[in-house]
Amino acid sequence: MACIFCDIVAGRAEASVVHEDEQVLAFMDIRPMTPGHLLVIPKQHATDLAELDAALGGPLFATAQRLAAALRRSPLKPAGINLFLADGVAAGQEVFHVHLHVLPRTPGDGWGLRGTFQWPHRMTLDAQAGQIRNVLPE
Ligand SMILES: [Zn+2]
Repeated sequence: MACIFCDIVAGRAEASVVHEDEQVLAFMDIRPMTPGHLLVIPKQHATDLAELDAALGGPLFATAQRLAAALRRSPLKPAGINLFLADGVAAGQEVFHVHLHVLPRTPGDGWGLRGTFQWPHRMTLDAQAGQIRNVLPE
């Protein structure tokens, strides 16, 4: 199946590349939500986190960390950075090749996560922690 990010990796589609190494590619988002919005992807196709080689999670995050440092030094001078990864349609994933957003932030830029904090009982939290612990992959 055609994948726009695989096309970018292969040089079949253009991108404004900021970083490339053997495992990871980082480039400007073509539809930035804030100025300097970057995407970090594994070069090897993985549809979602479940498919992503666990060994690539580290390099993806490390690259995002370096890009965040570069953004702060750059003339874009963001006041903050969000790292954001949408895994699955319900989470807002639109391109089905894993990508980590590096989002420069400034006060009043209009970007944000919507939601309402809940205050579950400790028993609920402990029960949920157990449910997750029981199926934690190696
Ligand atoms: Zn792909």
